[in-house]
Amino acid sequence: ARRHVALKDSIRSIPDYPKPGIIFRDITTLLSDPRSFRRAVDALVHPYAGGGIAQVAGIEARGFILGGAIAHQLSCGFVPIRKKGKLPHKTVKMAYALEYGTDEIEIHVDAVKPGDRVLLVDDLIATGGTATAAINLLKQIGAEIVAACFVIDLPEIGGAQRLRDLGVEVRTLMEFE
Ligand code: 5GP
Repeated sequence: ARRHVALKDSIRSIPDYPKPGIIFRDITTLLSDPRSFRRAVDALVHPYAGGGIAQVAGIEARGFILGGAIAHQLSCGFVPIRKKGKLPHKTVKMAYALEYGTDEIEIHVDAVKPGDRVLLVDDLIATGGTATAAINLLKQIGAEIVAACFVIDLPEIGGAQRLRDLGVEVRTLMEFE
């Protein structure tokens, strides 16, 4: 019999990346393992199957990989939320705070139809700053946010709770300290 390996064990932890004292949670090892990739996508899709999702919105770059697979399984569309300067058509932009300085993400103004039910996807939520900016963009272009889902939550940093406090449904598959 095949031994059951926890999905969490498919995540690789890289100490001192991108700088000393940070442990980076690397999902490439989840993505490259066929069973783990399917399990993660299935678990993220399951609550929303048949839920009338019109579009999955994925955050660059790892949110594209998961979001594309989720959208395919939901038979819905996919829309990219990108770092500034990458999208060719007219966009709306939102700046958000990083530990040092700010960054900016954007989305095409016509990426969704007003009232479209949208599922936001990224690999990991820490402070929730990126996801909050993405939700603001989606709302600006008329989306109805059904939920935001992530493979990994870092609950001690509090981003998922921050989103829930804003009234957003949040789903995550595992937690790390
Ligand atoms: P937040 O805006 O919630 O503070 O940070 C989340 C964003 O940073 C996500 O787009 C996520 O991809 C990225 N990120 C931050 N730390 C990690 C990490 O340890 N592993 C991975 N895979 N992504 C991270």
